Amino acid sequence: MSKINKNLETPIQKYRTYIQLFFVAIVLWIGIEFYLFTTYLESGGATTFYERPPGVEAFLPISSLMSLYYFILSGEIHQAHPAGLIIFIAILTVSFVIGKSFCSWICPIGFISESLGDFGERIRKKLFKKRIQMPRLLDYPLRSLKYLLLGFFAYSIFFSMTAVALKYFLDSPYNIISDVKMYYFFANISRFSLYVIFGLIILSVIFRNFWCRYLCPYGALLGFFSLFSPTKIKRNKESCIDCNLCAKACPSFIKVDKVSTVISDECTSCLSCIDACPVENTLDLKTVYTGKKVSKKLVAFGVVAIYFIIITLGMISGNWKNNVPKEQYIELYKQKNSIGHIRSSNDVQDLNKQAEEQLK
Ligand code: SF4
Ligand code: SF4
Repeated sequence: MSKINKNLETPIQKYRTYIQLFFVAIVLWIGIEFYLFTTYLESGGATTFYERPPGVEAFLPISSLMSLYYFILSGEIHQAHPAGLIIFIAILTVSFVIGKSFCSWICPIGFISESLGDFGERIRKKLFKKRIQMPRLLDYPLRSLKYLLLGFFAYSIFFSMTAVALKYFLDSPYNIISDVKMYYFFANISRFSLYVIFGLIILSVIFRNFWCRYLCPYGALLGFFSLFSPTKIKRNKESCIDCNLCAKACPSFIKVDKVSTVISDECTSCLSCIDACPVENTLDLKTVYTGKKVSKKLVAFGVVAIYFIIITLGMISGNWKNNVPKEQYIELYKQKNSIGHIRSSNDVQDLNKQAEEQLK
């Protein structure tokens, strides 16, 4: 039997957690700033003005998708939520370069989901050995749910909306104040929504990454993008000792030990499998075309660097803060309860009609 060269590379998981915590801290900071901004709106402009943090637009993915489409059609960045579009492009880019890495390195929901899964795993280890996995018969149809949601949004935007309706929506009071409406949805959360969130928490403790794996349309989009990523996890069949540790470590239940290249929309480039592999140069992230190894440190640095470079470019080019004056926000705040949502394809048709009528 040939000698096994032990994998002595430092694991990256600790640093991945630090990066995730860093982004959670940013989100909390944005949350505090946005809360202060809403107190200003609630007072009708009578109290100290706190600036609205543009980073809140990261939580408006539908509006950002529409802005992206508008940008493709017109070449212009719509100025209602420019930061949303810049963040959206940063997320797409980072998830393309290092396959779906936004989910396991940056996304705060991904971090919460992962922490709940870790908690569930600790309980499970005390009770029984086998990992809890959704039965395959249910796993495949459930995994398609997030694609159905994504398909619905993509169809509603790219195929049902006219260019005029798109602009009409982006200019609309609903779009402008959608972040404020989202804030009050959570601030005054209904009992039903609380039950749903509680159900998702329980399901995420039992089934690792329940939200990300089955329901998140953002994850579906990034998973699709990641299939074309120039970097992939590759296994060296010659030196592999078939210990199965990589597959056991994979939070996405990918059978890493059975393939030479991981091609999966569920791989988030978390590198847990690489950390778990006991044999040197056997499991690595490599470039697809040259087969060159991408070090774990470079992945960590790359994810953060790509994300912030794109955001910095957005700021430098003047596409970060929106052009909505605080007086308009105060007015829209007063009307916020009468400004409705778009819930179905019929609403999209109505929007098309309204936009056409506006043009006449
Ligand atoms: S295959 Fe490796 S990098 Fe991909 S999700 Fe599984 S453990 Fe993470
Ligand atoms: S961890 Fe996976 S790739 Fe590494 S030796 Fe074991 S089976 Fe092979």
